[in-house]
Amino acid sequence: MLGIVGPRPKRRPGRPPVDHGHGDYRTYLKGCRCDDCREAQRLRGIAQRARWSQDPSAADRAGHGKPSTYKNYKCRCQPCSKANSADVAAFRARRRAAAALGGAA
Ligand SMILES: [Zn+2]
Ligand SMILES: [Zn+2]
Repeated sequence: MLGIVGPRPKRRPGRPPVDHGHGDYRTYLKGCRCDDCREAQRLRGIAQRARWSQDPSAADRAGHGKPSTYKNYKCRCQPCSKANSADVAAFRARRRAAAALGGAA
């Protein structure tokens, strides 16, 4: 970086070619998996879930009755709680099955 900031180019309609450099979640979303970009994406996920959990309407937009809404949006309505319980039960069952296969032999 040289510290030179030119005038912002006017946005053309459509998707502009963007290059935000490394350490930016947008570069991660473009497919870069370097440490800096992964860290940026990780922090963004944490911040986003924190934001979502402050905003009940975000859970409404995501849709209820899904384990992801329970986890990401911290929605504790009945459909979401039920969906998450089922998800947890399925996860435990899978883990038990894997342990039974690989474990006591
Ligand atoms: Zn990168
Ligand atoms: Zn819900």
